[in-house]
Amino acid sequence: MRQRSTQSRQTTLTLNIRTVTRILGRCGMSVRGYDIEHIAALLGPDGRSAYGASPHNGHGRPLAGARGRPLIQVSNLALSDIRTAVVTIFHEIAHHRSYRTAGHGGSEAEAERYGQRMFEQFARHWV
Ligand SMILES: [Zn+2]
Repeated sequence: MRQRSTQSRQTTLTLNIRTVTRILGRCGMSVRGYDIEHIAALLGPDGRSAYGASPHNGHGRPLAGARGRPLIQVSNLALSDIRTAVVTIFHEIAHHRSYRTAGHGGSEAEAERYGQRMFEQFARHWV
């Protein structure tokens, strides 16, 4: 779950998931192993708006998306610009990987560091 830390103005949707995943693929950072789905608004456990989620069941198994792959949900907030979209997707991928390897989602700070690091890698290929 990637959440915003402060309230800010309503963001408008400027990207769609296909565009983001296509750009990532072109940069050698394919996210084909996941089903990434758009949910207009996501709420975190504390009621704050969230950028993304990587839902798991009570046994730590990922919920599957439309193609049967581990599901990542991204909200309008996440699709407001390419940086936010990329950080959010890889933040959620970090949670999925942690569930796979450690049996739990790991910390928010770790997931966020991974998302930011992957964005930096992306930015080097993107220009
Ligand atoms: Zn998170």
